[in-house]
Amino acid sequence: MVVDNAFAKTICSICYEDLKPIVEDLQSISICGHVFHELWSWFEYCSNGKKKNCPVCKQTCSEANVARLYFQSVGDQNDLSASQSTHGYFEDPKELQREVKRLERKAVGLNSVVENQQKELNAVNEELCNCKKQLKLEVMLKNNALEEKAVVQQLLHLKSEELNTLTSERVRLQERNMALAKELAALKLVSDLNLEEEDVLKLASLGKEGNNHKETIDILRKSLVIRNKSYKELMAKCNALGRGEARSLSKLGKANEKLKKLKTRVQELETVVEVKENKDLRAFKASKDDKETSALAKKCKYGGRA
Ligand SMILES: [Zn+2]
Ligand SMILES: [Zn+2]
Repeated sequence: MVVDNAFAKTICSICYEDLKPIVEDLQSISICGHVFHELWSWFEYCSNGKKKNCPVCKQTCSEANVARLYFQSVGDQNDLSASQSTHGYFEDPKELQREVKRLERKAVGLNSVVENQQKELNAVNEELCNCKKQLKLEVMLKNNALEEKAVVQQLLHLKSEELNTLTSERVRLQERNMALAKELAALKLVSDLNLEEEDVLKLASLGKEGNNHKETIDILRKSLVIRNKSYKELMAKCNALGRGEARSLSKLGKANEKLKKLKTRVQELETVVEVKENKDLRAFKASKDDKETSALAKKCKYGGRA
């Protein structure tokens, strides 16, 4: 490339300022060779939704493709920078024109940068708007979840109260069950006549923790007293029944005697009746014989006359 224009300048396409190779740190993209002051802010701008690329030729690249440039110089750097600086000296109208054109290009570039940034600002605003909407939605969801949580907690509270009630009811029923079992055991101790020693101990110590002998003995004593009492009552009943039986037996004896007497009397009467009947029969027979004899005699008397 032949540079025949002494005023041709190298500029950075990012900031549109002159590139000063000796006095500035410069960076280049190794893929395309384009040079800039620095690329980090451009990459940062790109990373906002775009692929990283070269600001000039738009080739895709990354931080790994950026290389620092070093220039060797001869002579005074101040002179060089002075010669590169053109601010303030535009004696040649052509040079002035070129400078104007350069500045115009720079303005156009800056405008496009501003436009891009405006677009980006709009996009950011839109995103912010979306974020706000999302936030609103999430706050609503959070509130809903909190309400639900409160409801669930209340429900949990109710359920645990119910559980407590049921537990106390269960304890009460267990106690009642045990009391009934003890009562039943006491009743059995008093009434069951076929209990072995082992059964007696088991029944008397029902529901007593460990070796609570005093209570067991109390129960045994009480049931013994009750048993004695009922034994006494039974004996009294037995005696009363015995007396009743004796009375009944004597009554039976008397009735038997009476019956015997009556039988004897009946026999006597029967004998009397028989004797009387025989007598009557004999008398009847005798009278009949007499009648027959007299009739025969009469017959004979009248027959003799005839
Ligand atoms: Zn620059
Ligand atoms: Zn490039």
